[in-house]
Amino acid sequence: MNYLTIRAKETPLEEEEDEVVPGLVHRYPDRVLLITTNFCATYCRHCTRKRLLGKGGTVKIYQEFERVLDYLKNHPEITDVILSGGDPLTLPLLKLKFILDGLKTIPSIEVVRIGSRIPVLLPMRLFDRELLNLLSQYDFLWLNTHFNHPREITEYSKRAILNLLKCGIPVNNQTVLLKGINDSVPVMRELLKGLLKIKVRPYYLFHCDPTKGVSHFRTSVYKGIEIIEGLRGHISGLSVPTYVVDMPHGGGKIPVMPNYVISMSDGKIILRNYEGMIVSYTWNKKKEEDILWENKEGIYGLLKGKRGYLIPEKTERIERRRNR
Ligand code: SF4
Repeated sequence: MNYLTIRAKETPLEEEEDEVVPGLVHRYPDRVLLITTNFCATYCRHCTRKRLLGKGGTVKIYQEFERVLDYLKNHPEITDVILSGGDPLTLPLLKLKFILDGLKTIPSIEVVRIGSRIPVLLPMRLFDRELLNLLSQYDFLWLNTHFNHPREITEYSKRAILNLLKCGIPVNNQTVLLKGINDSVPVMRELLKGLLKIKVRPYYLFHCDPTKGVSHFRTSVYKGIEIIEGLRGHISGLSVPTYVVDMPHGGGKIPVMPNYVISMSDGKIILRNYEGMIVSYTWNKKKEEDILWENKEGIYGLLKGKRGYLIPEKTERIERRRNR
C-alpha cells in the first residue's frame, strides 16, 4: 500500500487534479464545482483555494463556458452545480446572469448552489434590488454561506439572509473549526442557535484543511468530535451540522461523529444516547434468539436480553422524572 504524506500546501484538496474543463471540477458522482472568480469580499486565512485567490488575472471559465456546458450536457448524471471561487456574488451582474442562464439550458441540472461569504462580510451587497431581482429568476438556486463565530451574526447579515429567503433561496451554513475562535462547545452552540434564529440551516462543520500558513488555527479531530458530542441531543437537531474532514489527495469529505453504536449483532444493537444512557434495541427477535451468549452483565447482559438498558445515575432527565 502507498502511504501518501499530508503537508500544508496552497492546494490541499488537489482540486486541479479533478478539473475536467478549466474551472470545472468533477469529483463526486452527481455534482460539480465551477470556479467563477478569483475575487472575494475578504481573503480568509484558512481558505483552501489560496492557489487562486487574490492573485490578479481572471478565471478561465468565460472563454471555456461552451466546453463547460457541453461537459454537463454529456454527463446527465450531474444534477448539482456548486458555484464558487472566489465569491460568485462579487461578480458583475452580467457575468452572473451569463453563468446562471447557461446552466438553465441544461435540463439535467436540478440544483445550483452559490458558495458565498457575502451575507457575512459584505451583507449590504444583498440590499441591491437589481441583484435580488436577478437571483429570484432562478428556481434552482440555493446559497451556502460561511459564518464562523456568533459575533459575525449582525443586523445587516440578518437582513441580507431575509432578502435571500424572500427570493426563494434556502440558506445553509458551513463553518470551519478554528482553534481559539470557535473550538468550544459554548461558542459553537451560540453560533448554531444564532444561525437558526436568522433561518440559516447549519450544514457542515469543516475540520480546518492543512492549507499554508494556518497551522496555528488547526486543532485536533478529537476536539471536533468533542464539540459534536456537546451539540447532538443538547440542542435542536436542526442546528447540528455534519462534522467533516476533507481528505487530502482528493478523497472528499468524510463525516466524523462520536461513537453512538457500542455493539451490534444480527438482531440487536446496543446504542448510547447523548447523556450516556446505554440501550438495547432489537429489530429481529428470531436472530436474537439464535445467538448463544455466555456473559450476562453490562453490555453482554444487554445483548443477552437480561436487561433493556444501562443508564448513568443522576442525569438531568432521570432526576426530572423522579421529581415529577
Ligand atoms: S470567502 Fe471563501 S473563497 Fe473567499 S477567501 Fe474566504 S474561504 Fe476562501
